[in-house]
Amino acid sequence: MIHQNTLEFAEALDAQDELKAFRKEFLIPQHEGNDVIYLCGNSLGLQPKSVSQYVGKQLGNWQQHGVEGWFNGDDPWLLYHEQMKKPLAAIVGAKPEEVTIMNSLTVNLHLLLVSFYQPNSKRYKILVEGGAFPSDQYAIESQVNFHGFDAKNAVIEVFPREGEYTLNTGDILSAIEKNADELALVLFSGINYYTGQVFDMKAIAETAHKAGAYCGFDLAHAAGNVPLALHDWGVDFACWCSYKYMNSGPGGISGIFVHEKHFENKELKRFAGWWGYGAGKRFLMTQGFVPASGAEGWQVSTSPILLMAVHKAAIDLFEKVGGLEKLRKKSLMLTGYLEYMFEQINQKYGEELFKIITPKDAEWRGCQLSIICKRDGKKTFDYLTQNGVIGDWREPDVIRLSPVPFYNTFKDVYNASKLLDESLTALV
Ligand SMILES: *Cc1c(COP(=O)(O)O)cnc(C)c1O
Repeated sequence: MIHQNTLEFAEALDAQDELKAFRKEFLIPQHEGNDVIYLCGNSLGLQPKSVSQYVGKQLGNWQQHGVEGWFNGDDPWLLYHEQMKKPLAAIVGAKPEEVTIMNSLTVNLHLLLVSFYQPNSKRYKILVEGGAFPSDQYAIESQVNFHGFDAKNAVIEVFPREGEYTLNTGDILSAIEKNADELALVLFSGINYYTGQVFDMKAIAETAHKAGAYCGFDLAHAAGNVPLALHDWGVDFACWCSYKYMNSGPGGISGIFVHEKHFENKELKRFAGWWGYGAGKRFLMTQGFVPASGAEGWQVSTSPILLMAVHKAAIDLFEKVGGLEKLRKKSLMLTGYLEYMFEQINQKYGEELFKIITPKDAEWRGCQLSIICKRDGKKTFDYLTQNGVIGDWREPDVIRLSPVPFYNTFKDVYNASKLLDESLTALV
């Protein structure tokens, strides 16, 4: 597409946008009486208007049925999560029985590592992306320590090449091959939170399996953002949070994926709780844990129905919009336009003042663009905030902006870029 650096062009794209009606389904925070330009869906997605109604309905069930709400009413809580398995499976490219929702993300990462990281003296290493999200780093380090290994030796990090910001797929695959004899697990994010790079999950999973290791992904920044095919790629396990691109509220419920090839895998140990007990037998309360088949066998605790109600409101919107492909199509255009606008600024000043570190090839990025600010990064970011743009800042000099197809407009992208441009003269 040939872009133009004008408000009219941005407004024309908005007028043609098939998904434009969906912005009205969300509550947009306000700044001095106007909608903010919210470019932070990579951190916390906005609230669907329907959330209060969905939560209100469950509060009503609680009011009306008390404990009987687990079995009675039009949404028996015992089965409530089941309603979300099919639409969630569609979002992550899985079979419904391969997914479930429970706990929060880092907790689920630990629970899945209990099953999929069972090191022995020969195979005990985990290969990860250098610069993984801190919570994942801590989870991995503590798991390695828990098994009596030293993270310095047992965790292999793959870093970008000298002078580069993103990882080279070939380098990831050859690091797996090089360590094949010692690898227990390859664990990556689907999208790196800092650079916005989408990893080649299919190739990573294939190469990990050839090396005799399991392969899992943390999809916090990928779920609801880019198309995924976890089942077809043969990924062993995955987990994600729902509060970023899935708009399911601060600290919202997390999702997990376990490939069906592991449903009968007796080698996998797990930390069990009654909510993972085999179908229909949970309330017999007998001794000896028998897991439910499918991802549900990893559930531990009683369903947090109110969090699930928020999630359901958000997931229903993914169905209403007609699937992730529709969102992805608009997302590619929005992010492409943002990239063009950054380039316009650089051209105007004859200098790369904003260096985009997210991959240029749209296949390998989602909504987010990360830019390194050459000058006064924090001040530039604060200028945006003062003028009603919500993005996010990462030390020492990176701004991340993520136009989200559900609720952002091309005009948002245009106006945010104009403010960035303005900041350069305003701050001198
Ligand atoms: C957002 C994010 C988290 C956050 O984990 P919580 O347990 O929800 O706090 C973890 N890992 C990655 C990769 C993330 O992007």
